[in-house]
Amino acid sequence: MTQRIAVLGATGSIGDSTLALLAAYPEQFSVYALSGYRRLDKLFALCQQFKPCRVAVPKAAVEAFAERLHQAGLTCEVLSGEAGLNDIAGDSNVDTVVAAIVGAAGLVSTLTAAKAGKRILLANKEALVMAGSLLMQAVRDNHATLLPLDSEHNAIFQCLPPSVQQDNTQVHNPKFGITKLWLTASGGPFLKRTWADMQAASVKEAVNHPNWSMGKKISVDSATMMNKGLELIEACHLFDLPESKIEVVIHPQSIVHSLVEYSDGSFLAQMGSPDMKTPIAHALAYPERIAAGVKPLNLFELSALEFIEPDLQKFACLKLAREAMQSGQAASIVLNAANEVAVAAFIKEQVALTDIALINAKVLDKMTAQCSAANISTLADILHINQQACWQAEQEVILCRA
Ligand code: NAD
Ligand code: MG
Repeated sequence: MTQRIAVLGATGSIGDSTLALLAAYPEQFSVYALSGYRRLDKLFALCQQFKPCRVAVPKAAVEAFAERLHQAGLTCEVLSGEAGLNDIAGDSNVDTVVAAIVGAAGLVSTLTAAKAGKRILLANKEALVMAGSLLMQAVRDNHATLLPLDSEHNAIFQCLPPSVQQDNTQVHNPKFGITKLWLTASGGPFLKRTWADMQAASVKEAVNHPNWSMGKKISVDSATMMNKGLELIEACHLFDLPESKIEVVIHPQSIVHSLVEYSDGSFLAQMGSPDMKTPIAHALAYPERIAAGVKPLNLFELSALEFIEPDLQKFACLKLAREAMQSGQAASIVLNAANEVAVAAFIKEQVALTDIALINAKVLDKMTAQCSAANISTLADILHINQQACWQAEQEVILCRA
């Protein structure tokens, strides 16, 4: 039977890789809905190619986009803004939601998909960082399926026993002997460069990732290693483990995508070329496999694989994430919000790359009291503290620029 797919964030980097795979398997997958936010010419071209039934665009663009589709003879329904994303995520005609929006903007639709019991292919790590418990509970309560697209989490998922893949609480069952998870990190473009180089880095240098081609925000997050910090929090929620059971190791070659350590001394790793089409193909076809069209690894051509302990002074964001995970959900929301504001300011050339960690630390520090008093049990609680942290981070950006 054809799987009917909604790709939220279709115009981005994950959207590109996903749609390339969907186009290659028209009998297995049909594109039911798409969404885009900025590059609407690209979204229009995707509508011409895939002829989805529904498409969501920002409110201000609805009329013009609908007219354009009409002129081209396309009968696709155009939906508006966040309500439109939710309509798609909960649509009874949709089997699978690919959550590929970047940042906090992807949270609500991901949660809607979980509440509607969908199969969710999750790229939007920020949704788990902000709403880990709520999202995982919604997945359980509504018999949704959550499959990670993030390459490290997808690698860990592949290295876990099937019973743990199907029920993450089984990770604690002693018979499976799972002792630790190891998240690999490339170390980004500044691994072998100094802090002063990072301080003077241009946006172009920061987004120039050595191994992966990705959207701007995640590329900057990789340069500061905040990406690995967010992934640490993401892994805690996905695999139901405390941060103390998750190690981060720098592996500059990005060949080993992550590992699971077992009590008998075995380390199971998933390896492959650094291409997001592999984890996406895995999740699309799970529990079966499909060809991803990825260049296979040539083991004869691989030189040494290195594993290095991260420098937490240089990559302070990683340390902040571990601390935030220890202090609770509110701190993770605050860190994520501060980081989004700081990264946006860096991309606008208002602050230096190294200011991102400083801004994140200051916002966490200033909001310590709010974090410890906060009782995060609903989406409204999450959005409220997110908004407060964004405001606080904007103040820090202004101070930084002064
Ligand atoms: P991107 O910037 O290339 O694409 C982001 C998508 O989100 C676009 O379609 C954009 O239109 C949409 N979007 C942006 N702001 C929006 C808003 N306010 N409302 C609705 N839609 C909005 O980003 P990406 O690299 O594809 O990353 C997407 C997500 O996947 C991120 O959470 C990222 O951390 C995660 N991820 C990406 C990669 C990768 O290789 N690119 C790997 C692992 C995880
Ligand atoms: Mg990743």
